[in-house]
Amino acid sequence: MLSQTESDISEVGSCPRVVVIGAGISGLTAAYTLTCQTDAQAPAMEVLLLDASPRAGGVICTYNLDDVILELGPDSFTTQKPSAIKLCESLGIASRILPTDERYRRTFVAYKNKLHPLPDGFFMVAPTRILPIIGSSLFSFQGKLRMAMDLFLPKGDAGLDESLTEFVTRRFGAEVLERVAQPMLGGIYTGDPDRLSMKSVMPRFIELEQKHGSVIAGLAAERGKHGSKPGESGARYSMFVTLDEGMNVLVNALSSKLPPGCLRTKATVEHVKAGVQGRPWDVVFSDQSALSADAVIIATSAKQAGHMLLSTDSSLSDDLKQIPYASSAVINLIYRRSDIPHALDGFGFVVPRKENRSILACSFSSVKWGNRTPADKVLLRVFIGGALQPDLYGFTDEQIECLLWEDLHTYLGLKALPLLSVISRFPDAMPQYNVGHSALVERIDQALTKYDGLSLAGNAYRGIGMPDCIASGQRAAQAVMSALATRQSST
Ligand SMILES: Cc1cc2nc3c(=O)[nH]c(=O)nc-3n(C[C@H](O)[C@H](O)[C@H](O)COP(=O)(O)OP(=O)(O)OC[C@H]3O[C@@H](n4cnc5c(N)ncnc54)[C@H](O)[C@@H]3O)c2cc1C
Repeated sequence: MLSQTESDISEVGSCPRVVVIGAGISGLTAAYTLTCQTDAQAPAMEVLLLDASPRAGGVICTYNLDDVILELGPDSFTTQKPSAIKLCESLGIASRILPTDERYRRTFVAYKNKLHPLPDGFFMVAPTRILPIIGSSLFSFQGKLRMAMDLFLPKGDAGLDESLTEFVTRRFGAEVLERVAQPMLGGIYTGDPDRLSMKSVMPRFIELEQKHGSVIAGLAAERGKHGSKPGESGARYSMFVTLDEGMNVLVNALSSKLPPGCLRTKATVEHVKAGVQGRPWDVVFSDQSALSADAVIIATSAKQAGHMLLSTDSSLSDDLKQIPYASSAVINLIYRRSDIPHALDGFGFVVPRKENRSILACSFSSVKWGNRTPADKVLLRVFIGGALQPDLYGFTDEQIECLLWEDLHTYLGLKALPLLSVISRFPDAMPQYNVGHSALVERIDQALTKYDGLSLAGNAYRGIGMPDCIASGQRAAQAVMSALATRQSST
């Protein structure tokens, strides 16, 4: 625990102090942006990055074990949003970025106890090419016709905040929702399609519909314009990448660039409130010791941020606590290659809710990235829980292992138990961008304008993926720097 006491509050030094709460990727990026600024005009500042846990990284956690690399949390990031790639470049670790093995670039969908390849060119919720759909075993003849109706249907009301279910069934019919959109997007957000807001999770599809009158036509137009498949990131990187020794490479690179003493772990913050003297903010710890600050970035979950801000602004606190969360678990499984009859000729599979199974998805990690295991072994990563199956998260490890066995046996024909099984639980780690989310975030942003030098970052607001979190940390750091610069110029 920190040694700061109430007396710290009155110790007002000459250089502004910024406290960043939460050392997940969002908070780490915010602290890095603040400390590594190259702008000579930017104010000098002392930056402290606090985290309740004994280590930095938040949900990012790589486990390097003998000859295998296990990711307990996230295992990759998209290159479609440039912030993560740019951050790696700025940290000098771009050479450690590992592309997926493109020979196996395809996803399977579980349907009636079998794995069917998702047709080539299917992008998240919509087809980009007609021919591969025609030959697909995943959709019925009627389903294929209904999908094609997207080309002729009138566009919807752009002002509406539709659910994923409403948007996808309106444009493409129930089969696309049930067999692709629900398991793909539901898997990313571990969410309920009836509640997830299309505007918040996939705004691009709404834009395509509005601009081109049809999502399929819009995707085709983009394809023509950029000369690549929508969703592809150009020649340099594959659509998803990882780091050679796992995502901890990024966490370690960020941590190592922070000034000595900047990162303080095992520091649980309870409140952030108006400063009683000296600096404008007091950061109060669970042992009631405190630290004064000129600016604060809260980069925890919205729930935690809501608790911290209760005494500062109860209405802002209520809004933050209104963002719901789902819990999930990731199970890393190592098998002998010879114990899995399936060809594993893809990146993994997703399981639609209609299949009535326990697992949400299974990623063939050692196929995606050849360096995760020796060639005679296979690493599978299985996901369970989420908003649609909240009970599973609470099952014992033994119960979870039994359920996995049944599902993996069905889909992959497993012949033996795994050599190693590591279950990692992530309680309340996945914010749910439900219908109304964007309005809620706007209200939160509006409320924050009342407070000088207070910013929020993290996965709760404008995107849950790592690039979004990195961008949120950078935005929060920029907001704090301009607040400090304005304050400095007015004194
Ligand atoms: C299982 C899983 C798999 C994922 N897979 C991917 C993937 O493959 N690719 C991808 O792009 N995204 C993925 N995501 C999403 C992405 O990884 C997360 O959204 C992102 O890492 C969250 O980062 P964060 O810094 O906002 O929050 P977190 O990582 O949750 O960090 C918040 C930090 O705040 C600290 N904290 C909380 N309360 C306090 C307090 N009171 N005082 C001090 N500190 C506190 C916590 O200890 C934690 O370290 C995944 C998420 C999960 C859960």
